[in-house]
Amino acid sequence: MRQVKIAIIGAGFGGLGMAIRLREQGHQDLVILEKQADLGGVWHDNTYPGAGCDVPSHLYCFSFEPYYDWSRPFAPQEEIHAYLSHCADKYGIRPLIRFNTEVTSARFHEEEGRWHLETADGDRLSARILITATGQLNQPAIPNIPGLESFRGTYFHSARWNHDHDLNGRNVAVAGTGASAIQFVPRVAGQVRNLHLFQRSAAYVVPKPDKPWRAWQRRLMHRFPWLQRLDRLRLYSVLEMRALGFVLMSSLLKFYEWKFRWQLRRQVSDPALRRKLTPDYPLGCKRVLLANDYYPTLAKPHVEVINSGISEVRPDAVVAEDGTERQVDTIIFGTGFHATDFLSPMRIIGLNGRDLNQAWSDGAEAYLGITVHGFPNLFMLYGPNTNLGHSSIIYMLESQFRYILEAVTQLDDSNRGWLDVRENIQDDFNHELQRKMRKTVWQNGCESWYQTAEGKHTNNWPGFTFAYRQRTRHIDLRDYHLAGDQS
Ligand SMILES: Cc1cc2nc3c(=O)[nH]c(=O)nc-3n(C[C@H](O)[C@H](O)[C@H](O)COP(=O)(O)OP(=O)(O)OC[C@H]3O[C@@H](n4cnc5c(N)ncnc54)[C@H](O)[C@@H]3O)c2cc1C
Repeated sequence: MRQVKIAIIGAGFGGLGMAIRLREQGHQDLVILEKQADLGGVWHDNTYPGAGCDVPSHLYCFSFEPYYDWSRPFAPQEEIHAYLSHCADKYGIRPLIRFNTEVTSARFHEEEGRWHLETADGDRLSARILITATGQLNQPAIPNIPGLESFRGTYFHSARWNHDHDLNGRNVAVAGTGASAIQFVPRVAGQVRNLHLFQRSAAYVVPKPDKPWRAWQRRLMHRFPWLQRLDRLRLYSVLEMRALGFVLMSSLLKFYEWKFRWQLRRQVSDPALRRKLTPDYPLGCKRVLLANDYYPTLAKPHVEVINSGISEVRPDAVVAEDGTERQVDTIIFGTGFHATDFLSPMRIIGLNGRDLNQAWSDGAEAYLGITVHGFPNLFMLYGPNTNLGHSSIIYMLESQFRYILEAVTQLDDSNRGWLDVRENIQDDFNHELQRKMRKTVWQNGCESWYQTAEGKHTNNWPGFTFAYRQRTRHIDLRDYHLAGDQS
């Protein structure tokens, strides 16, 4: 069995950034296991028309690798993917990645102080330190709709876009009105004959300040890199104000609500359609979306908004909850991801045969989103409660890189084999977290991917990102049980 010091699962922003930082600190003995044939994570998977980030790119990139050549403030998917390829090549990470390698299970062997990993093709590998960078949004969710298997047309999920399926002149049903759908619906609507948009709940869509950068603006940023840093700081501060609205003072969100109403009034003249597109929950409870072309698309005569999910699929049609039928030949699911599943379907077995999926049967939780009691030397990136409704995930990832680097250094410096977070530390942290959640806008009676079906908040961080950075700035060894011999 091949032995490495550090195994990372996933080659998205998390896995790549972590590997870069580890190598910078002199850790050479590491491997990245990636199930896809290319790097990029969500930016490899989501190639749907119009895909792009909704946090400005000057903030949505690594702080240690600023980039000045984005074509516009919110870069499209191809550019973000190219940026990640550039990072992997510049820092020599690509040769460390084993593509087409899906990890199916990991078991901690106490006597060796090592994780044994198994891959889908039956390969085995052992690592002293295991870092998961599998993201929260990498398992597409297609709802279990009766009759779907009988459909004679073509259906696919937005994160597995079928580029071979020509949409010209098609009758298309789209299920979902989340962050992906609002990006691809305007593009698709320009091609199809009819588009039926099935909306279970309306989104707050506010204007997107996304005028392409001019050549002179890019030249200026190349010449004076501090200008981009200044813009990053400006963006960071503005977005952090939104956190204040989400977690403390929902009245601060009134401004966004005004922007939403202003845009809807300006772009949709039909009052009935406007009513359909007005959410029935407070702003912020679900992700606030940015687009300038979504509402005008929905106002087009060949586009229909149906206020319901798809309740049944027939060979040539989809059925709404009121029983009405639409003849379609294509169904596109913009229905999001299994976001609360975290590391599953991988099987992770820790000390004393403890199964992580069972430990998390009431909803995932961890200490600082990074470590879980009973699973020594397992570190998660973008783990439970480290998602954001307001700012860049890369900022959170970079906080985690620093914490994990310190943990690895501590392991190297001590004569002990592993670190296991203490149970009471993890419990206290999570009680505090769920208590804070009760004061946030996410608690306000809407269903979202931020919670499990039972209502436990497993995804979001309830506060400012600088507060998270502060808490993860240094690892406190008193929070951990140090055991085993150094291998
Ligand atoms: C369409 C879309 C737009 C987004 N836009 C933004 C945005 O604007 N701003 C923002 O902050 N966030 C955004 N996000 C959230 C995004 O998930 C994070 O910003 C970030 O990309 C997460 O990186 P990651 O490396 O943690 O996870 P991912 O990018 O999801 O990468 C996980 C990797 O792990 C691999 N993997 C998973 N399981 C296994 C396994 N068992 N074995 C081997 N490999 C495995 C996957 O193939 C994947 O490559 C967006 C997400 C989506 C889907």
